[in-house]
Order: sequence, then C-alpha cells, then structure tokens
Amino acid sequence: MKYNIEQLNAYCKRYGFVYQGSEIYGGLANTWDYGPLGVSLKNNLKQFWWKRFVSQNKYNVGLDSSILLNPKTWEATGHVSGFKDPLMDCKSCKARHRADNLIASATKGKVDADGWDYQKMYDYIIENKIKCPNCGGFDYTEIREFNLMFKTSQGVTADSNNEIYLRPETAQGIFLNFKNVVRTSRKKVPFGIGQVGKSFRNEITPGNFVFRTREFEQMELEFFCVPGTEMEWFKYWKDYAKEFLTELGLKPENLEFYDHPQAKLSFYSNATTDVLYRFPWGFDELWGIASRTDYDLKQHQNYSGENLEYLDPNTNETYLPYVIEPSLGVERLFLAVLLDNLEDETLENGEVRTLLKINKELAPYQVAVLPLVKKFHNDKAEEVYDLLMKNFIASFDDAGNIGRRYRRQDAIGTPYCITIDNDTLVDDTVTVRERDSMEQVRVKITDLKVYLNNQFE
Ligand code: ATP
Repeated sequence: MKYNIEQLNAYCKRYGFVYQGSEIYGGLANTWDYGPLGVSLKNNLKQFWWKRFVSQNKYNVGLDSSILLNPKTWEATGHVSGFKDPLMDCKSCKARHRADNLIASATKGKVDADGWDYQKMYDYIIENKIKCPNCGGFDYTEIREFNLMFKTSQGVTADSNNEIYLRPETAQGIFLNFKNVVRTSRKKVPFGIGQVGKSFRNEITPGNFVFRTREFEQMELEFFCVPGTEMEWFKYWKDYAKEFLTELGLKPENLEFYDHPQAKLSFYSNATTDVLYRFPWGFDELWGIASRTDYDLKQHQNYSGENLEYLDPNTNETYLPYVIEPSLGVERLFLAVLLDNLEDETLENGEVRTLLKINKELAPYQVAVLPLVKKFHNDKAEEVYDLLMKNFIASFDDAGNIGRRYRRQDAIGTPYCITIDNDTLVDDTVTVRERDSMEQVRVKITDLKVYLNNQFE
C-alpha cells in the first residue's frame, strides 16, 4: 500500500516525526515541529547533501550566512518589486487563492497561467466560471499583488528605516560573500559555494503537509563558471542531482526532469530544469536547477558599487562568472523520502508490518538495543547501548513484547535491532536482526562495533 498525504501525516505524528506547530495553543496554521525522529531524519538528509555537494565535491566549499541581510540585497535582486504572487480572495468564505493556481487546479494542470498578466488571469477565471475550491462560491475580489517576503524591523523602533526582510532564499547570502570566498578560500573558477539554512516566504496557499510552508529549509549551491561554459555545467549539475537522488534511494520511476521551454524562462535564466517527484497529488517540484547567467552578481555590483569581477589568474582577464544554481528544499526531500520508502508489507504468515525501507545512512536510528525481558536483561542491554551510542545513532527500548518492539523499529526504519537475552549473559553474544530480511545473526559484543560499521559502509 502506498501512503497518501493524510496517512503520511498520521504516521509522522504517531511515531514522532512531525507535530503540528504550537499545538497546545490550538496550533499556528501550516507550521510544523520536527520530533525526535523527524529531526534525526532531517539532519541526516542535510548531512547527506552536505557530503555530496560540499565536503566530497572537489569544486565546492561551504558557507553559513545570516538570515537577515542588508535590505538593499532584495532591491538589487528584484525581490522587493517582483517576488509576488497574484492574490485573489473569495468574498463568500474569505479563502485566499493564488489566481494562477486556481486556473492550474481547475484545468488539472493543462493551462499554465504562470507569466500571464493579472487581467488575463482574472478574465479566464470569470469566463470559465472557476469556483472557489473551498466553498464552491463564485464571487471574487480583483487580483492584487502580494509580496511573499516577510518584513520585520531591526532595532527598537518600528519606523520604515529599520525595515528588513527574512530571507526568502539562502542563495543571496552566497552572492554577497562571493568576493570573501574568492579572497580566502584559494578556490578558482569554476567553483561552487553551498549553504543549508532556513528561508521564509509568506505563501498565499501553503499546504500539502510540509510540501509548502512559510518557513522551510533549503540546500543551495551557487556554482560559478566561465561565461560560455554554463551549459556544460548545467548538464553536469543536472546529472549530479540525478545521481544524488538515486543514491539516496528514490525510485527512478517517481522522478521526472522537466526542462522549462525557452519562452517560459525567468528573464535572468538561460536554462531551468525542475526535478519533479511523484507526490500523492501528482508530479510536483522537488528541486529547481537554474542557469542564472551573471544576473545576481551584476545586480549586487550595481547596487553596492563594489567591483565583484573575478580576475582569472591564468588569463589575467576579468569577468563576472556565470552561475548554476541547484536549489533543493529539505522538507520536500523529507516528504519524498518517506513517501518513497514507506510500505505496508504482507509477510509469509499473512501478518502485515509497516516498513520504512529507507537508505541505511538516512535512518533516524541506525540501531536499537532491546533487552528481551526487562527484568533480566536490562543491565546488560544498557551496557551495550552505552557502547554503541558513541558510534551510532542508537535507541533503547524495553517497553512491551519483543515482537511489537521489532515492528516499531521496522516502522521507523531502524536497520539493525540488537537483542540481549539469556545467552548474552552466558557468552556475551547478542542477536542482530536486519530490518528488510528480518534475518538474525549472533555476534559477540566485542565484535559488534566492527560488524555494524561494515554494514553501514
Ligand atoms: P514553487 O513553484 O513550488 O513555489 P519555487 O519554484 O518558487 O517553488 P524555488 O524558488 O526554485 O521554488 O526554491 C527552490 C526549492 O526550495 C524548491 O524546489 C523547493 O524544494 C523549496 N521550496 C520553495 N518554496 C518552498 C516552500 N514554500 N515550502 C517548502 N519548500 C519550498
């Protein structure tokens, strides 16, 4: 059985992956908190990305820039004037809609209104009698511009001079530090700077669980290359992304690479591909990969007055590098990984077990230590737990019968369960049970670390 989004939400809540945000106060719409298993999975995903895109990639280095940037940043990039969505309210139920999304969902994606002017969208909705998906009404306001950036003020007074924005993407902190990194890292073009961090967008219609939220995390790479070579690198990073997702364990049949047609590209881009995942509501964007030309550096150079050109030490030429940007959302990847790997498996004896068949490197817990009978085996089990927790993400569970405990670990994706029983007390061996095959082997406690390390290689 494949999980739909409501079932996945219930699973996440039940096992402690994701909770409703601010729950005891009645919640705060579309905010989510990540519980013990959720934070572990998220951390593992970020580490996996960081390894592949930063520490294990010879071209790239990392960065952690501020969330709050000088507000001129967002004037330079066009976010202040252009990062907006077409907002339309239903007068009957007061639901807020994105006009382009109303058209897309009413036509099941056949009509793409992205890029239309507001009048054209409005006319289409009225002529085609597209009803409010919330109440079925047909009484809308005009379409208004709605800027997606969260505004706040810095300092103790709230006048507009102090107005700043929460960043809507991590990318710009990278561009602002381009010169610093060139000066201090000894990297030469082509090279990239990767960053992982929170971004904020006041989305009109957040939803589909954690797919679209107002606070989310991005894993972004800005890759700087010689102008004229960008298409080679665009292909390189597309292939790299594909390999990354395959290695991560997403099934190829659930992935699609959608190349934006030339006529639909953003004005600063000369090639863009969306990596789509088959979410329960259909294929939707997981990862955006864009060739952004020298747009960002040029804009920051113009607005800041700083020369951001790169001096090529081999040719002595100066130029603004072109940029390829693969930008991936942590929560969308989190969702895809759970949806792709979660199944209800029918066993030979007819029993059904929930199984999260996740890549071992990503599992929220790598091992679980289980005393067979609490009364007799707890002390020894705690010794084994203390030993393992220094090297592995380990969990300890002594509540309930062993069968149920195995099932719980299967459901949360723990690759290995270590059981301590009477034999352990006699010969210092434990049972190691593998998640997918459920096969069990006996291993000496002194060999356990090496045995498990080999399994995770
Ligand atoms: P969408 O079309 O779905 O709004 P986008 O094209 O605006 O996304 P980008 O600006 O390209 O998204 O952002 C890069 C990535 O950041 C997306 O592919 C997605 O994984 C993630 N992302 C963007 N907006 C959100 C959001 N509101 N909630 C969660 N993740 C997001």
